[in-house]
Amino acid sequence: MASSSVGYATFIDALCGLRGYQILARIPDEYLRDAFNLTGLSTEHPYFNESLKILLSRSHFDGSMTSEAAENAKLLYGMIHARYITTTHGLGRMREKYTKGIFGTCMRCSCAKTGLLPVGANDQPGVTSVKFFCPTCQDVYHPTVKAHTTIDGAFFGTTFPHLFMFQHTALHSAVNPRPYVPKIFGFAIYDEKWSKKRAAIARRRIRGEDPAEDLAKLPPRQAAMVPRLSGQRFVVFDGAIDE
Ligand SMILES: [Zn+2]
Repeated sequence: MASSSVGYATFIDALCGLRGYQILARIPDEYLRDAFNLTGLSTEHPYFNESLKILLSRSHFDGSMTSEAAENAKLLYGMIHARYITTTHGLGRMREKYTKGIFGTCMRCSCAKTGLLPVGANDQPGVTSVKFFCPTCQDVYHPTVKAHTTIDGAFFGTTFPHLFMFQHTALHSAVNPRPYVPKIFGFAIYDEKWSKKRAAIARRRIRGEDPAEDLAKLPPRQAAMVPRLSGQRFVVFDGAIDE
């Protein structure tokens, strides 16, 4: 990281200036200084105090610290970042990046270059890199930018993109999920099993019942179309399931 820090004032500036790290929001100093926002992190991060000191330092970052100390500070920044981007202020910062297309666009043809949102496959650091969620096809993709493969998915967490879409309903209503329909000579291939399950879900919905039982029977690809919030599946009938 030291070689990329030239010209930047602080450690955080250097971190956010790294190639690919533009997908991270710049956490305001006042958020970092509020102990309430950091509750519990001192037990989750092994070098919490010294790493926080680095993050709060206003002195010029010259890359002279050890790589281990820099990695520890980066980890703490990422853990705080996952919390910050679920706040109203953080969601606003991420919307600016989304609008600018910083997160890239979906590769599926029928998604018409829908803007992607970063997401973690889990909330624990050190497991896997950041992935990207498409609000239109409701699927998750590996990074296509090599630099993103070095960014921990826990820096964004599992909640962010779905909360983002809830907060920005205008964006949500703008997307139109269009699952790909395989056809032979222009005729859609009839999937009897999927059709019956979809009908069962619709009947439960009409009766005002919880369709979770039927959703649990869906194949992984179709079940993945139902987003999650804080690790719990929340029932949303989008166009992909309830046409
Ligand atoms: Zn898509």
